[in-house]
Amino acid sequence: MNIEWQGAQDLKDVYGCLIENELNVSVEARDQASAVITHAQMRSFAQLGIYTYNLPETWGGFGWGYAPWGKVLEKIGYLSHDVSFPFLISVRMSFINALLAVQRADINDIYMRDLIEGKKAGAFAYTENADAFSFLSCALPEKETEYYLLNGLKAIVTGAETADIFLMFVRGETADIQVFLVRADDPGVAVTPRAMHGCRSTGIASVEMVNVRVHKSRLLIATDGLSFAQRYFLNCRRALQTTLFLGRARAVIEATLGYLHTTVRHQRPLIDLQHVQALVGEMYILLESARTSVFYALHRQDRAESDPYWDSVSSSAKYQAVEAVNKIAALALNVTGGWGYSESSGIGRAQRDFASLIAGADPQEKLKVDIGIQKIHEIEMYYQRYPQ
Ligand SMILES: Cc1cc2nc3c(=O)[nH]c(=O)nc-3n(C[C@H](O)[C@H](O)[C@H](O)COP(=O)(O)OP(=O)(O)OC[C@H]3O[C@@H](n4cnc5c(N)ncnc54)[C@H](O)[C@@H]3O)c2cc1C
Repeated sequence: MNIEWQGAQDLKDVYGCLIENELNVSVEARDQASAVITHAQMRSFAQLGIYTYNLPETWGGFGWGYAPWGKVLEKIGYLSHDVSFPFLISVRMSFINALLAVQRADINDIYMRDLIEGKKAGAFAYTENADAFSFLSCALPEKETEYYLLNGLKAIVTGAETADIFLMFVRGETADIQVFLVRADDPGVAVTPRAMHGCRSTGIASVEMVNVRVHKSRLLIATDGLSFAQRYFLNCRRALQTTLFLGRARAVIEATLGYLHTTVRHQRPLIDLQHVQALVGEMYILLESARTSVFYALHRQDRAESDPYWDSVSSSAKYQAVEAVNKIAALALNVTGGWGYSESSGIGRAQRDFASLIAGADPQEKLKVDIGIQKIHEIEMYYQRYPQ
């Protein structure tokens, strides 16, 4: 069954053939082998303009904000059987915008055109199995030279396997976080692909640096790299990156309906059973409720009404959307029997892919704690200011 429920025809017209021929036909083999979507494949999408929607007009883009860009990602998530593809696109696009935010003309001259045209790719190397204030990755300035020596390990970096450059977040001399541009071909850099539970074709890898010597011109952010990370990597992407999962969740519901229509038990199609109808209703409620909060959050970001460093509305939207898509996948498996559990149904794979955001973009449990702390603090401050 293919009813084009998402209303994704506009993007299908541009990218549909490539998505079908380059990605959908090979999704099972790629997933089983944990094989990355190649640089060449990503480049062919870039040539059709995939990085132009969210790109500032000064760089030849449309300058679309978070909400319309989220709609594009949602539609691609619907069209692409491989969630890794829109996931990777979203990371690459955020990387371009983060690098532009640094406002370094010399760096842009070298890398920006190639990034937009997909000839080069970038990835964020931030987290490292520790709190940000206790990072072990560090940068030490060499005495009487213009160079820094970088050491450290970033364990989970999306798109690292095919990345040429990294925004590398490390502890500086004063324990403040600094951001360096590190190249994959810098001597001392080792990129090691990792086997993951889902989103296996994003090319998640660890990035290790052993005595990597970089010129001071590669120091992009000298102080308060933590605020930079929140503003241009974590906070701004938290709600945005759920959109592509919402698109795929819609496709999962559609595939489930196809099965329910054609499967007869006790002389009746499953779709005629009221319990099954209620379950379809529940999946739809989950999807639309999540979409409502995610796009509400993204529109607030576009209107500059959100907190650019840590926004509780977009964090709530991420939490809600991740709970919703994981529940949709579980409900789909409840009514699709053995077929749903087969690789070719795509539902089991979607369930593994959807689980990635339980940990990624701040774990769900941590978001609850952080939102709770923020709200308690806000209310305490209010009572202090306006005692009853
Ligand atoms: C698919 C995927 C892609 C990723 N891509 C990137 C990338 O491109 N670049 C990058 O730098 N990183 C990336 N990461 C890493 C990711 O950002 C981290 O895994 C995430 O920030 C969580 O950090 P952590 O694993 O150290 O868990 P922590 O935040 O340390 O949490 C560990 C566990 O403890 C719980 N916990 C933590 N604090 C509390 C608390 N106060 N109260 C109760 N429970 C708590 C959490 O819920 C969690 O289950 C990716 C991760 C995934 C899964």
